[in-house]
Amino acid sequence: MTGKVVGIIGLGNMGNGMAQSLLRAGYQVIGTDLGEAQQKAARDLGVDVVADIKALCAQTTEIILSLPMAVHVQAVVQGPGGIIEHAQAHSLVIDTSTSEPEITRALAAQLVERGHQLLDAPVSGGPAGAAAGSMVMVVGGEATALSRARPCLDALSSKIVHLGQSGNGHVAKLINNLLCAAHLVTTAEAIALGKKAGLDPAALIEGLNAGSGRSAISEVNFPRWILNQEFDSGFSMQLMRKDVRLAKQLIDDMEMDLSLSEKAAAIWAESENAIADGEDFNCIVKNHL
Ligand code: NAD
Repeated sequence: MTGKVVGIIGLGNMGNGMAQSLLRAGYQVIGTDLGEAQQKAARDLGVDVVADIKALCAQTTEIILSLPMAVHVQAVVQGPGGIIEHAQAHSLVIDTSTSEPEITRALAAQLVERGHQLLDAPVSGGPAGAAAGSMVMVVGGEATALSRARPCLDALSSKIVHLGQSGNGHVAKLINNLLCAAHLVTTAEAIALGKKAGLDPAALIEGLNAGSGRSAISEVNFPRWILNQEFDSGFSMQLMRKDVRLAKQLIDDMEMDLSLSEKAAAIWAESENAIADGEDFNCIVKNHL
């Protein structure tokens, strides 16, 4: 048992999984969420669910965020009743949300000005990885903040890569999800091509996974959520469309011409008309298969 206390703001698909891993590692976990179902699920795990950020900050100086989008992170950090208003001296905020690099950098500056620290530590691995403590984290922020966060991050992840200054973790995560989004489209097209040519999709995936065309999408997503029609990964279309939109924004900000990536981004943007926000993100393949 570590005897340490950690807070989680946002107890949704990922926050719930992270709470499980931290409790297993011996942390006392204090959490808060706007949703009643999320509050109840967390309470059932053994999380001390509190009403608001003020109550959470009163009990801990280490605060994990797992929120949908940058706008929610801004509200929680700098909004009325938020972390800046209520944090104890020298608090550490670890933002595991997939957020926007420039917003992260601005929030980090505000927190540092007040004696706090912010790490952007977005994650890969989905709710299952969060619950197993086997996520991958790409981290931006001060090395001293990362050293301080290490014990907690080690309970959540199997691999941590520090990419330098604040916001760089979020840049890396957007690039990762752009690749993931493109791989979903290209792998779906590859399977459609094979099917049309008379091949069995499951056998084709097995062959691809033993060859150089494989990716996490062919190795994990197709067998686990797509070929069996389960489509229950715990990651929504809405959040993946957000990530792809931010990746496209990054390409534009860098004034680059990346034709295949931009085509993939356009396919994801257009999917809004056909696939509802609440659907599983793997449903993008349905446009191709
Ligand atoms: P989610 O919608 O299931 O959970 C987010 C939670 O934040 C919700 O329960 C919501 O009620 C809560 N929330 C929003 N505003 C709040 C506020 N002001 N105070 C307290 N709680 C608030 O989303 P998720 O799937 O858990 O994803 C969380 C983040 O992690 C997103 O940025 C997502 O892109 C990223 N992510 C998700 C996955 C995945 O597989 N689900 C994988 C990697 C990264």
